[in-house]
Amino acid sequence: MQYKTILSPARKRIALVAHDNRKPTLIGWCQRHREVLAQHELFATGTTGGLIGRETGLELSALLSGPLGGDQQIGAKISEGGIDMLVFFWDPFEPMPHDPDVKALLRIAAVWNIPVACNRASADMMLTSPLMAGSYERDIPDYEGYLGARS
Ligand code: PGA
Repeated sequence: MQYKTILSPARKRIALVAHDNRKPTLIGWCQRHREVLAQHELFATGTTGGLIGRETGLELSALLSGPLGGDQQIGAKISEGGIDMLVFFWDPFEPMPHDPDVKALLRIAAVWNIPVACNRASADMMLTSPLMAGSYERDIPDYEGYLGARS
């Protein structure tokens, strides 16, 4: 795979997702980091987004609920360059009916080289990183080069 560099903007587009048992942790995290999060553009899966909006007052765009396609919607946005960071508190103790979507979301986040936090410690460190303050040079797959090599 050939890579090229793009700039993730200073005002990041952050996707927030939590499985049911992990929602209280994500809501608490959003409350603690409310001021910083308010400076960015937020997206979330349906139920997660509704709860975060209600409990924190943060503005966010809620997509579909995860099991109904919300994880895939976030994955599509990542592929299109519309999400710069993913906070995904998935539940390591419960099987999920939409496990293939969970795996797909984590895979596509790795493909497009966006930062991903799957627990509170990672999310704390990610959001307080000095790299959050400005735009960030991110290597992504060179799609034109990829197509050219295949045709
Ligand atoms: P939800 O979806 O926010 O609608 O609960 C999260 C998920 O299960 O991926």
